[in-house]
Amino acid sequence: MRYDVAVIGAGPAGSFAAEKLSSLGHKTIIIDPCYKKKACAGILTAQYAREYKIDDAYVERELKGIRLSFRDIRAEITYRKAVEYSIDREAFDSFNLNEAINAGAGLKKDIALSLEENDSSVAIRTTKEQIDADYAIVASGVSDLSRLCGGAKKYAYCVQQKKNEEPDDYFEMNLMHGGYSWSAPKKNHVLTGTSSLNGYPDIPGEKGLIPLEPAEKTFSNRFLLAGDAAGFVSPFEGEGIFYARRSGEIAAEVLSGAISGNNALASFEKRWKKEFDFSTLAMLARFLSNDMVLEAFVREIRDNERFRYWLDAFFSPLGFTVVTLL
Ligand SMILES: Cc1cc2nc3c(=O)[nH]c(=O)nc-3n(C[C@H](O)[C@H](O)[C@H](O)COP(=O)(O)OP(=O)(O)OC[C@H]3O[C@@H](n4cnc5c(N)ncnc54)[C@H](O)[C@@H]3O)c2cc1C
Repeated sequence: MRYDVAVIGAGPAGSFAAEKLSSLGHKTIIIDPCYKKKACAGILTAQYAREYKIDDAYVERELKGIRLSFRDIRAEITYRKAVEYSIDREAFDSFNLNEAINAGAGLKKDIALSLEENDSSVAIRTTKEQIDADYAIVASGVSDLSRLCGGAKKYAYCVQQKKNEEPDDYFEMNLMHGGYSWSAPKKNHVLTGTSSLNGYPDIPGEKGLIPLEPAEKTFSNRFLLAGDAAGFVSPFEGEGIFYARRSGEIAAEVLSGAISGNNALASFEKRWKKEFDFSTLAMLARFLSNDMVLEAFVREIRDNERFRYWLDAFFSPLGFTVVTLL
């Protein structure tokens, strides 16, 4: 069977791309082994919650705010108009995959080993067969296949642990030189993680990689890269689910246009660059990677009323307000 589009990977990038393609009437197949548990804090940000409907099927907690700390200085940012959610990541991924299947996409529980393209099609070799399609979306996250297809190459290294601690409704970020640690409250436990730019922190737990910058080129003649495969993660705080979903949707729209002969795959890059401002976020992340700046930032949130006013104005379009002294 020949497909219009083969989507490799059923994380948020792949599932939402496949759902959109199927709902636009394109014959779509998803390839994913469907067994891998992912390291993820599982926070759906205010940006995600503003844009998309949230389903109770995967929500563990509605969050009240963020606690920030640097050394012994602590500050708190509470939400005003915004809502953020702590989710069960496995339930979220299977919910989204089911939605794609309900919209008409097929699923092959298999691993893609290679992708070859020519002028009119792609051929994907899996452990069991060859899958032919007019186009492909590479949404295989941080993986060998994504790298083989020219995906993101620079990463932060994370280790995550489950702690049997009493959760509350705040996401905690402990900023430190060259990385940060975080705690995400779940229904009955807390997930903690530590990230570093210099290899995996030497602690036991589940390992995961976070791309640091977009791939040099995110389109080819016959395929597009979406989500982590393309390096679409905010370098400011590691948010990737929103960018995965949105880039999957943009990729689906661009391929739908290409199938009807209306646009070239290069327009994908123009579209995501218009929506995602990774360079400003990277600048902010670089700025905050300096110890003195970090210390001043958290201290000022805690102590300086004018700075809180300023931050409030800065954050209010996003729905946050900076309020608490600890
Ligand atoms: C420790 C950690 C914490 C994080 N916390 C957050 C957070 O709180 N909030 C947030 O927004 N983001 C967070 N992120 C980032 C977020 O997890 C990713 O950005 C997001 O999962 C990217 O989605 P994706 O669909 O691109 O890739 P993924 O979700 O990684 O999905 C890729 C899919 O491709 C499949 N696959 C891989 N190789 C192949 C192959 N060869 N053939 C077929 N299928 C294949 C995999 O099985 C997988 O299902 C975190 C990341 C880490 C590492």
